[in-house]
Amino acid sequence: MKYRRFGKLDWMISEISLGVLRLDEVVEEPCERNDRERIEAIRYAIDRGVNYINLGYPFYFEEPETAGAYVKEALGGGYRDKVKAAVNIPANEALSQRDLDNAVDRQVGFFGLDKADFCVIDGVDRTTWNTLKSVEIASWAPRVADVGKAEHVAIAFHDDAHYLKEICSAYPDWAFIQIELSILDYTHHPGVGAFTFSKELDCAVIATDITKAGRLLKNVPKEVGEIVDKSRLKMEREALYLSWALSHEEVSSVQLSVQSELRNIESAKKYLSHVEQFDSNDFGVWEKLAAAQIREAYYAKRDYQCTACRCCMPCPSGIDAPRIVELINNEKMFSDQKISEFQYNMENHQNTQCAQCGVCDKHCPKRIPLQKIVSGAYEKYRQNSPLPARSLVGFDR
Ligand code: SF4
Ligand code: SF4
Repeated sequence: MKYRRFGKLDWMISEISLGVLRLDEVVEEPCERNDRERIEAIRYAIDRGVNYINLGYPFYFEEPETAGAYVKEALGGGYRDKVKAAVNIPANEALSQRDLDNAVDRQVGFFGLDKADFCVIDGVDRTTWNTLKSVEIASWAPRVADVGKAEHVAIAFHDDAHYLKEICSAYPDWAFIQIELSILDYTHHPGVGAFTFSKELDCAVIATDITKAGRLLKNVPKEVGEIVDKSRLKMEREALYLSWALSHEEVSSVQLSVQSELRNIESAKKYLSHVEQFDSNDFGVWEKLAAAQIREAYYAKRDYQCTACRCCMPCPSGIDAPRIVELINNEKMFSDQKISEFQYNMENHQNTQCAQCGVCDKHCPKRIPLQKIVSGAYEKYRQNSPLPARSLVGFDR
């Protein structure tokens, strides 16, 4: 295993790390989750030098104890002491410092930890940041370490990169910034633009979702298969997605999902072998070209070429039309309705019906028929998934 600097902290993190209890697990049927294989994969990776695990958010699941049992078992037998572990707090649940305290306590208790090494404020964006500011997150973060709940506080950020400027200025001691960094996220929420701010702070970056919650590995469009076949790539797609993320020197570690990527010993061996062989000097023009072509092939499948400019906002009814367009586009790109439908209900888009005022349509420079899309998504997704409201921690956006 190779290790990388971890920002200002006096610690080196393994180039790949582990993530559990995330979106890809929630949408799997329980019968598709093999606890024994996942325990073996986690321990196999830790035995070979992986030294960080993000423990996700067990309270997504209808039965947290059942869902999280395999994680607790994997970290038993001394394995907990071989890794640093992060618990997560949903940013949208942080309405007071007491809420934050309770959320950390709850998860540290759930996993039976003395304390967490990191506490990640998850789902930080332009909206949740305003709430976090109002609860004085910058004064809470150092206090968590002082009272021994978690050593350090970090953020998982999902929004335009420039919003990081204020977030990083408000508290320059975030232990790391966690971002989604698949080849499709090159410039998206926040994409590589995050590195400008992480470098200024000398703050570590952990990259997640390199396969978009497993969707880049399933239902692969024939155009993508053809790009790989015709290219001069000397690696498989999985290795390309991992290598692309690792090729950014600003990334300290790539967090792999135990559900989608490291789901058994065989896949763990494969990814560990990729990371051992990875050499940034080998990630050259052909690899970058293939990554760009695959990105364009997926983008071309989208129904709507939304640039996420948000000129169509705000909606007088409080509807996040660009996000709904994104969910519809994702369904088309990945031929996967399940995740888009789940996210639609989890994010509570179903709670507001369009008033059909037409404001969004009028302001979209791309002439995207937003009113029609918003109403269509309501009919399509809402009726199928009457899910209870849940937090957004760890959910690909
Ligand atoms: S205005 Fe149009 S292009 Fe811009 S975010 Fe809204 S839907 Fe997308
Ligand atoms: S048409 Fe519907 S989605 Fe668009 S701005 Fe009006 S209420 Fe909002």
